[in-house]
Amino acid sequence: MTADTVLLLIIDGVSDRPCPELGNLTPLQAAATPVLDRIAAEGICGIMDTIAPGIRPGSDTSHLSLLGYSPGEYYTGRGPLEAVGTGIMMKPGMIGFRCNYATLDAAGKVSDRRAGRIRDTADLTRAVMDGVDLSDFGIAVMFRSGTGHRAALAFQGRGLGACVSSNDPKKHGLVPPPFRPLRDTPADGKTAEALNSFVRQADAILADHPLNRDRESRGLLPANTILIRGAGEMGDFPPFSERYGLSGSVIAAATLINGIGAAVGLRRVPVKGATGSTTTNLSGKVEAVLAELETQDFVLLNIKGADEAGHDGDAVGKRDFIERIDSAIEPFLSVEGLLIVVCSDHSTPCSIRDHSADPVPLVIRGNGVRTDAVGSFDEIACAGGGLNRIPGSALMPIICDLINRTTKYGA
Ligand code: ZN
Ligand code: ZN
Repeated sequence: MTADTVLLLIIDGVSDRPCPELGNLTPLQAAATPVLDRIAAEGICGIMDTIAPGIRPGSDTSHLSLLGYSPGEYYTGRGPLEAVGTGIMMKPGMIGFRCNYATLDAAGKVSDRRAGRIRDTADLTRAVMDGVDLSDFGIAVMFRSGTGHRAALAFQGRGLGACVSSNDPKKHGLVPPPFRPLRDTPADGKTAEALNSFVRQADAILADHPLNRDRESRGLLPANTILIRGAGEMGDFPPFSERYGLSGSVIAAATLINGIGAAVGLRRVPVKGATGSTTTNLSGKVEAVLAELETQDFVLLNIKGADEAGHDGDAVGKRDFIERIDSAIEPFLSVEGLLIVVCSDHSTPCSIRDHSADPVPLVIRGNGVRTDAVGSFDEIACAGGGLNRIPGSALMPIICDLINRTTKYGA
């Protein structure tokens, strides 16, 4: 008997280095994790270079790699994936961008890159979407709100390039620079001009918008401009279901991860209270996974908060969040016929507050899967396991083999 459904649990950035605050243990070693340790004891462990040894992965490139879409071939920038994540139907060839609502002062300088961390931008986004017209460029515009001050933009039209600069000065007190083509091509020039026109028109709409007037009257910063970056052309992703013969869902708080899932054809399952931080609704996500496993072959669950703690350099907070994850995932242990795969997308060591290329721990547990001598789930113990050290591109082939969905190579 082999497992027939798969849970791929990616604990974002959970992998770490020794932390002095934790007696030189990693947060995974320091945390009390009876559930993860049981999965390790009953499964096969290893460590994994999600892209390749020495490559510091982004969350986007590493998730693509783990799903079997080589980032070298499929990654064209964050913008188009963020756009998919906000619900824009991105077709191959469309250009996508990440956006922030921001605040300009009376002199036209950026006074807050996040517009006072504005929350509900739906009315502003609708006004921009309805008011901006780029038909002179032959461009159809799609603009959608993301979480908080974030949004995404997409252009559809002929002869558009994605090699353009950003208007985000990255610092406060500077005037947003105009968009420029980064190569001397008509296509990049056209996109840059269209972006300049988009921002001019959007600024005029936002300046007079009642929601901004109301914010100013309450002493809040107006969201009176849009900063745009991460331009990229939408790639052509062969659907996950065709590639592996598996139906699947994605459950994640981050727009980017939802976008990657949706780009390869996974079903997006929104969860109330899933925030991507350490205060996220873990039990809601676990319930959503259990419900999806009733009908889907494969579920990708991303839990983001440990990455945030790593970026904050908060080793103790990371350890404590790992303990919360551990107790939340216990219901997975008793799902019949489930292959449980737990790993991380990259290390986010508290000591460097950024991603690193250190390999991540990995465990696979399910019917018929071999075991090894590893009895705890952490970076050091897993390195002694039966999977040894594998590249992220090997993960889906190994999973497909363990659930008997692989065909023989040769006779
Ligand atoms: Zn990540
Ligand atoms: Zn990160």
